[in-house]
Parts: sequence; C-alpha cells; structure tokens
Amino acid sequence: MVKVGIVGLGLIGGSLGIDLRHQGFKVLGVARQRVTCQIAKHRGIVDKADFNLDILAKAEIIFICTPIDAIVPTLERIIPHISADTIVTDVGSVKESIVRTCSELWPNFVGGHPMAGTTEQGIDAAQANLFQGAAYVFTPIENTPQAAVSELKAIARSLGCVTYTCSPEEHDRAVAWISHLPVTISASLIKACIGESSASVADLARKLASSGFRDTSRVGGGNPELGKMMAQYNRDNLLRSLGQYRDSLTQFIEAIDREDWASLEKLLESTRQARSEFI
Ligand code: NAP
Repeated sequence: MVKVGIVGLGLIGGSLGIDLRHQGFKVLGVARQRVTCQIAKHRGIVDKADFNLDILAKAEIIFICTPIDAIVPTLERIIPHISADTIVTDVGSVKESIVRTCSELWPNFVGGHPMAGTTEQGIDAAQANLFQGAAYVFTPIENTPQAAVSELKAIARSLGCVTYTCSPEEHDRAVAWISHLPVTISASLIKACIGESSASVADLARKLASSGFRDTSRVGGGNPELGKMMAQYNRDNLLRSLGQYRDSLTQFIEAIDREDWASLEKLLESTRQARSEFI
C-alpha cells in the first residue's frame, strides 16, 4: 500500500486525504493541533495523524497543503524526517516563487495546483470528491524528475482530475486571470454594494439577492488569508490583469454613459461567446 503524507489538514489537505484513502492509499497526516489530528482520524480523513513530523518517515509521496507562506518553511522542517527518494509536492495557488526555492531544497519536488476549492477553510470544510472533474496543473522546471511528475499525474487522475503541465510562470499568469482577478473583482463588488447610502435600499438589496449575486460574489466571500496571499505572491500578474480589467470596465461605463446600446450589446455578445471557452 503506497503511503502518502499530507502536511496541513485543512480544506485541500483534508479533502485530498479523504479521496486518497478511497483510492487505497495509506494516508499519514500532519497538523499543528491535537484537535485537528483527532478530527482527521475520527472523520476517516487519514489513517494516522500526528503533530510530530517523524510520522512522515515512511511516506513515499508528500503533499504540502499549508497556506502559501508556510510551504517553503514546511519543506525545510520536514526534510530531516524524510527519505531521499520521497516525492514532495505542494498544492499552493501560486507557483513561481515556491517551485524554484523548493526544487533547490529538494530535487524530487514537483509544484502542483488542484483547481478546486470552496469558500470554507479548515478541516471541517474537507469533503469527498472535491477534485472530481477539476483541472490539476503540475509545474515542473528544468531539473524536475519526470518520473515524479508522472507518478503525481497518475494520482491526480485517480482522483478524477484532468491533468495539465506548464511552467510556474505560465501558471501564475493564467491563474491571475481565472482565479486571482475574480477574487479581487468579486470582493470589490461586495465592497461597492455595502457602500449603498440608503439603509432601506441596502436592506431591500440584501433581501432580493439571488442566484446572480450568489454566483458573482462567491469567491469574494472566501478565505481572506488566501485572497491576501494570492495578491502578495502573484502581485505583478494580478496587477497586470487588474489593469486590463479596469480598461474593460471603462469600455462598459463609456458605452452606458453615451447610451451607446449597440456597442454595449456587441460587447455582451462577445462576452457571451467567450465565456463558453472557459467554462
Ligand atoms: P485551510 O483550509 O486554511 O488549510 C490549511 C491548513 O494548514 C490549516 O487547516 C492549518 O491546520 C494548517 N496551517 C495553517 N497555518 C500553518 C502554518 N503556518 N504551518 C503549518 N500548517 C499550517 O487552507 P486551504 O484552502 O486548504 O489552502 C491550503 C493550500 O491550498 C494553500 O496553499 C492554497 O493556496 C491551496 N489551494 C487552496 C484552494 C482553495 O480554494 N481554498 C484551492 C487550491 C489550492 P492546523 O492549524 O490544524 O495545523
């Protein structure tokens, strides 16, 4: 039975544990708190859990599922406890800064990012089948061992993911568009709505909010720590995307201001067609 270690038993780490166990892997979990270890065992997320890193000694593959800023320090901490042929991967939402450093620290490191999540966080948010049908992108660099990439891709496919490979730089630029920009826009949408000056209109808006608002505000109502780190660790790409978004918003504002309904309809027609290429 292949032994898989998971460090950080939150939404992603916990959900991975559930699905990996279903696939027949033996899952060894590491959390910082005793209570997280207890919940993980009680819910069947792991076979064994501990806050002592020695539990990872027999793991053949390790997923680091901590917040982005803890990935490199976590790898540094686990290195003295693991054997030389262990494959280590992470699930961080940003890759460039992490992959270069981690690959220097551990030659058998492969950057990864499962494109799945919810707005919840922590072990209580862990759920089965979170990765079913999701994209899972791996970001090898020049020295990344191909065998490790192949092994991780096979695991990701066993979880129901569609796998992709690209450079860490391409990954960060692409996710700025489809993940980090939407979080920022969605959060600023909520921020604008709560700026309504009439208390009765604001109250009515809250009561009338339905599926459209639910869809457009979802990612802006998620984990604030994750949103902050996406911006912090992918700043340049996010700023570039936000700049282009601002130009695009200006186009819409100008068409509406000019009462240029033909241009507005043309814009909306082009976005309707383009959306299907993403979703
Ligand atoms: P999460 O639910 O907050 O889980 C992270 C877990 O890591 C926490 O439950 C915590 O567990 C542990 N942890 C927190 N700080 C730590 C530290 N300094 N050192 C060691 N462990 C620490 O977050 P998540 O959403 O699963 O995100 C985890 C990773 O997945 C991030 O790198 C994120 O970029 C990536 N990711 C997230 C999503 C998403 O939509 N949420 C999607 C794809 C990838 P204990 O306190 O019990 O130790």
